[in-house]
Amino acid sequence: MPAWENNIRKVVPYVPGEQPKGDSIIKLNTNENPYPPSPRVLAKSEEFEKLRLYPDPKAEVLVEALAKYHHVDSNQVFVGVGSDDVLAMSFMTFFNSDKEILFPDITYSFYDVWAELFNIPYKQIPVDKDFRIIKSDYFIPNGGIVIANPNAPTGIAEPLSFIEDIVKNNPDSIVIVDEAYVDFGGETSLPLVDKYDNVVVVRTFSKSRSMAGVRIGYAISNSKLIKYLNDVKYSYNSYTMNMPSLALGVESIADEEYFQAMIKKVVDTREWFVKEINKLGFTCPKSSTNFVFATHKSVPATDIFKAARENNIILRHFSNERINNYLRITIGTKEEMEKLVSFLKKYVG
Ligand code: PMP
Repeated sequence: MPAWENNIRKVVPYVPGEQPKGDSIIKLNTNENPYPPSPRVLAKSEEFEKLRLYPDPKAEVLVEALAKYHHVDSNQVFVGVGSDDVLAMSFMTFFNSDKEILFPDITYSFYDVWAELFNIPYKQIPVDKDFRIIKSDYFIPNGGIVIANPNAPTGIAEPLSFIEDIVKNNPDSIVIVDEAYVDFGGETSLPLVDKYDNVVVVRTFSKSRSMAGVRIGYAISNSKLIKYLNDVKYSYNSYTMNMPSLALGVESIADEEYFQAMIKKVVDTREWFVKEINKLGFTCPKSSTNFVFATHKSVPATDIFKAARENNIILRHFSNERINNYLRITIGTKEEMEKLVSFLKKYVG
């Protein structure tokens, strides 16, 4: 073995859901929105003529649009290449202690990957038997906390008061609240940003704004923490956001009516779908997201996963022991979900 092997940072990477080729597939495995982005976004193609130039490193147009939308100052907004980028930067910036950072054992499976990548000590705290986070478990010395609310892949949302208790009991560390799915029914922790100095709320355009392919995420916090985040970003890569993303993000924010209408369609389909699968012997925690986390009373999840795949329907299955009898099913269009229900009727019915 060459000596340089010892100097290499070795990581077990996060494995994203499959992105299959082909049109005949019903793709319900990566929590994308089944509807297109706002027509205003699609009409903005003139931005591509400006690609010769570097984008604005401060991403000002988008930062300002987000600040206005959320009624905060523009120095309270940080934008990045999807919330994955914002979260990775946040781990790098805020989690520099020798103490362990805390997050649930069942949550977004990128958190432990970033902790490993950045050599951050961490502790995964078990959720209870119903997959609920136990907030008092987070009232211990720590180097930071990250909570997805609503949580993934369970879909469970906790109220603002729950997150506030965690924040209040941890004045010595930064609490990151990952709100990737909040628009589908969660309660936002944004009010805590004004009340406490240690809260960072992270959002994405990938789910509720139907823009996973554009890669826009952002953080809202106080100006001090946002400055620390920007200092790390400018020490790493000044031009994270490309020119079209900035313009397309602004257009999406400008079309509130379309945004609300698409969320309503997804939520209505989710409520219909849950009733249908309950009739077939599935149960799932109450979802406040654009997916459901379902298990069947008798048919193993892996069998359903494989049979669905053979029928061109892709779902998400995780091998983690606590959840390996569950499937995470993204809410597609009503037609897609009808096809899934008729497949399930035949398969488990
Ligand atoms: N947080 C959670 C909880 C997620 O499920 C995802 C989607 N994989 C992300 C963050 C990252 O999404 P994006 O980078 O597309 O904003």
